[in-house]
Amino acid sequence: MKRILFFLNIVLLISCGTKKSNDKSGQGATMYYNGDIITMEGDSAQYAEAVVVQDGKILFVGLKAEAMKLAGEGHQMVDLQGKTMIPGFIDAHGHMVYFGKNLMDQSLTGVKNIPELVERMKGHVQNVSGDGWIVGMGYAPLKMTENRHPTADELDAISKDRPVLVVHSSGHGGSMNHAMMKLLGIDEQTKDPEGGEFLRVKGSKIPLGPMEETALIDVRNKRPAFTGEAADKVISEAAKVWASNGQTTAMECGLGLGADDVSIVENAINKNLLPIDLVVFSKESATDDVINKAYGITESFSQKGGSGAKKLLSDRADLDKRYINRVRLGGIKLWLDGNPVLAWMSEPFTEPPPGRKAGFKGYGQIPDSIIFSFYDKFWKSDRQINMHVMGDEAIEQALRAIEAAVKKHGMYDHRPVFVHCGYARPDQVLRMKAVGGIPSFLSVSLAGQGDEMEPMWGSDRASNANATMWMLKAGIPFTISHDAPISPPVILPGLSAAVNRITLSGKVLGPDQRISPYDALRAVTSMAAYQLKEEKTKGTITKGKLADIVILDKNPLKVDPLTIKDIRVLETIKEGKTIFKK
Ligand SMILES: [Zn+2]
Repeated sequence: MKRILFFLNIVLLISCGTKKSNDKSGQGATMYYNGDIITMEGDSAQYAEAVVVQDGKILFVGLKAEAMKLAGEGHQMVDLQGKTMIPGFIDAHGHMVYFGKNLMDQSLTGVKNIPELVERMKGHVQNVSGDGWIVGMGYAPLKMTENRHPTADELDAISKDRPVLVVHSSGHGGSMNHAMMKLLGIDEQTKDPEGGEFLRVKGSKIPLGPMEETALIDVRNKRPAFTGEAADKVISEAAKVWASNGQTTAMECGLGLGADDVSIVENAINKNLLPIDLVVFSKESATDDVINKAYGITESFSQKGGSGAKKLLSDRADLDKRYINRVRLGGIKLWLDGNPVLAWMSEPFTEPPPGRKAGFKGYGQIPDSIIFSFYDKFWKSDRQINMHVMGDEAIEQALRAIEAAVKKHGMYDHRPVFVHCGYARPDQVLRMKAVGGIPSFLSVSLAGQGDEMEPMWGSDRASNANATMWMLKAGIPFTISHDAPISPPVILPGLSAAVNRITLSGKVLGPDQRISPYDALRAVTSMAAYQLKEEKTKGTITKGKLADIVILDKNPLKVDPLTIKDIRVLETIKEGKTIFKK
């Protein structure tokens, strides 16, 4: 009984009185009070006594007595009991579709050596029916005894006749068994694709198993499509995970990485599967396909009338017109370089990563011509360009392309996104500001990989990686993202990492770049809404905006900063409806 009462008490729901037919102001309204309600408006924390939500929107923010009057009779009252209410978290860079697919695969996170990896994968074989691929995701060679990818010979122990693929935690590398090579016709004749490579058996052209960058992408693209119930599950299960972590807007920043990505999202739109918003960015090579598809979907929904876009829009004039059944095409994603070990730098790595020679500077993934043409075409459009940039040379390439577009077409409120923005030089920060660029930092990578990055990048570049304070001082809006499935789709550990910058060994890496908990919170709410050009409807608890809200067990601004990562999401509300409750 005690336990039941405890759960009931987390958020107490009281219904107030009966409805009066002539007073419609409070009908269906819900009033929240008695907690730390942080509006996230402004440069410093502002608290409100009460919030009234009605018809999916925020009707009132302010004093409790006024809220009572406005909410009227027949409204519900939610006693927050001292809990913290903030705007719903916005995923500023993640891969929800990709994550959903991984949910169907074996997790390899934390494996300590290759035998353990093989054992885990063996256990997964029976989960995959028919001719499906046996896939594992999330091993990290640098954290494994062998300090390398597993080879095809080793992966053959999982299955000799069924295709096996394992993917590195960064998503930028992986390895396959011989059955996979046979299935895809990969042998000594196979050439390395541009921007990637198949590692070879020493002294020969025979593929060894491991592959990097575009070589891995080419292999993954050949995976059989998820269809039917499996396709539904990919997206609904992933959305559940996002919602349980307080996120009311999700992102897939690389639609088209898998050949069935587009059909999975189309399926979600047609069946209206999503409880939260999803913004998609197409992988550059899939852009024409995705844009054509998006036009087709918009048109078909406009014509259907009944459940179509027209009806959606006439019912909800305030609704962001670009969403159809919770999905919106945000723009395009370009990958300019790789993970921290392959970051494209202007100066050589201080200590080359394992297997690289002295003087290694990483490398670019796409030629100038492609990125320049994308900016030329889309600079003055609603299709925003997000770019994966890790090293300063990749940032340089991005800036050159953007500056050329500005010179030719004039300045535009495009808000190009510098995804990860691992190491930006101080001179680049100013140029980023001039073109309206927004960095989205993967702050958790600093905690997880900082100890390995520091010797490779050198102390100066590693200390100023994810330069949150430089951005803050320059007045550049920035966001904090999780890049799931590269790291788990959780928000609070990212805030912890940006606030504390403590690595696994306990060292503070770059103390001068630490930011306040409030600035970190802005980076996942108001600034994230700005990055997505949705600041008019999301990101703060403000009258007229969507009632996208999250309730936390503790206030991130009041706890010991070291414990921000332990704060729990108790409830997630999307446009007034509870979609997750602990
Ligand atoms: Zn990413």
